[in-house]
Amino acid sequence: MEKREMLYEGKAKKVYATDDASLLIVDYKDDATAFNGLKKGTISGKGVINNQMSNRLMAKLERCGIPTHYVQELSERETVVKKVSIVPLEVIVRNIAAGSFSKRYGVAEGVVFDRPTIEFSYKNDELGDPLLNTYHALALKLATPEEIAIIEKYAFRVNDILKEFWKTCGVTLVDFKLEFGRLPDGAIVLADEISPDTCRLWDAATGEKLDKDRFRRDMGGVEEAYSEIMRRLEEHL
Ligand code: ADP
Ligand code: UDP
Repeated sequence: MEKREMLYEGKAKKVYATDDASLLIVDYKDDATAFNGLKKGTISGKGVINNQMSNRLMAKLERCGIPTHYVQELSERETVVKKVSIVPLEVIVRNIAAGSFSKRYGVAEGVVFDRPTIEFSYKNDELGDPLLNTYHALALKLATPEEIAIIEKYAFRVNDILKEFWKTCGVTLVDFKLEFGRLPDGAIVLADEISPDTCRLWDAATGEKLDKDRFRRDMGGVEEAYSEIMRRLEEHL
């Protein structure tokens, strides 16, 4: 596998072409942003943790029948993935009220839902990733009705699998964001990453936050939280 030119540099990862047109290499950075890029910083060691955590979790999801873009870990920060055409939707599943849900609907953080919720944002930085419903997504031709149905089904299955796994680690899965993509044959697969940058993870016993909210909210102990959540994952894998 040969790494070729950089195709894209995002906020958290760099994406490279390879000598195989169907594969990409993603390279995870320590850069952290929040509030649509307004807050910037570095979380030392984050790239290594996010790369490894995302790969372990995607491999687990594959074993449970969820198709993903994951192919092979190349190094501490680099992974080979299947190249997909990203569906421009941020798919957010929630088990407990937190973050923008709490703010938007005036619900205290920590209120547990009877059933998980799902919502979509339009993945568009200029517009600030606005919330939209499935009718809006269809009107904007972001996905077909069949694709949206598959994405919802996979997202709830991912929630069931990860909620159960994190529970064995003494961690509560509060909410998370997923991205999906299309393979050349049109099949929908889980893409991007699953990490403490994209999930809310609370210590089940103490409620301590073990995710990017420590960075967003200037709580301190950011690196320690990322290391602790990775330690729990490795212990229970
Ligand atoms: P952002 O673009 O939000 O700043 P990142 O820094 O994480 O995010 O950049 C990674 C980019 O690569 C994202 O735009 C993501 O949608 C895209 N991506 C993730 N997985 C794949 C894949 N398998 N194929 C193509 N693009 C992908
Ligand atoms: N999230 C993400 N990327 C985004 C927005 C949200 O990974 O651009 C994740 C976030 O880490 C959390 C979940 O999606 O686990 C729900 O986030 P929320 O809508 O509450 O937004 P926030 O509080 O981050 O503004």
